[in-house]
Amino acid sequence: MIELRTPAEIERMRAAGVFVASVLEATAQASAVGVNLLTLDKLAHDMIRKAGAESCYIDYHPSFGASPFGKVLCTSVNDAALHGLPHDYRLRDGDVLSLDFAASVDGWVTDSAITIIVGTPRDEDLALIDVTSRALDAGIAAATVGNRIGDISAAIGDVARAGGYSINTDFGGHGVGRTMHGDPHIPNDGRPGRGLPLRAGLVFAIEPWFMIGTDRIYTDKDGWTLRSADGSRAAHFEHTVAVTDDGPVILSARS
Ligand code: MG
Repeated sequence: MIELRTPAEIERMRAAGVFVASVLEATAQASAVGVNLLTLDKLAHDMIRKAGAESCYIDYHPSFGASPFGKVLCTSVNDAALHGLPHDYRLRDGDVLSLDFAASVDGWVTDSAITIIVGTPRDEDLALIDVTSRALDAGIAAATVGNRIGDISAAIGDVARAGGYSINTDFGGHGVGRTMHGDPHIPNDGRPGRGLPLRAGLVFAIEPWFMIGTDRIYTDKDGWTLRSADGSRAAHFEHTVAVTDDGPVILSARS
């Protein structure tokens, strides 16, 4: 079901977005060589408690998950593309780390993700991050009244292809509101002019993720972490965006 949010509701979602952005900033800043992924998860958990927010991940148990997620932050390192389950791993120089975080504040959810490089970057990782980040920008720019979902999907796919990456459409953007996942689904590739017409009040997460060498993934034996089939590195960027008469508004914008 597609739900439209009032301007007042969108303002309340923005409050959740400010919190989510602050957690991503803090965990990204804390990500350094030698830092354990479990320490990053604990940092996010402490911030949730302090803010009186609620994690969207800790009890999350969809059909594709082996068990409830049990952590509050997704930490996907190198060949891990999505849903990286924090575990006892210390970050190493040159690691590509995607941080994905969603929380509910006063009953409204925001979802966002960033990818960073820990320590010394490799050129091919910088290129991947640049393209994935620009794909998010292009998708957001297409989230305007009068466009359709397919325009967002096509904008994302075009940037990926121009960057030389193939696209896995198994996981993509989604409606966000009282819960983390709702309609509409927003694939990371598609045809312009197709799909749901965008109206003011639609709120959804747009989340391109690409891998350097493949569009195929497999599930790690932890039951959650999705890894690239060929071991190549992945990047993932996500914002929660409101469609308004004044254009797209990024609710999870970082300062
Ligand atoms: Mg997310």
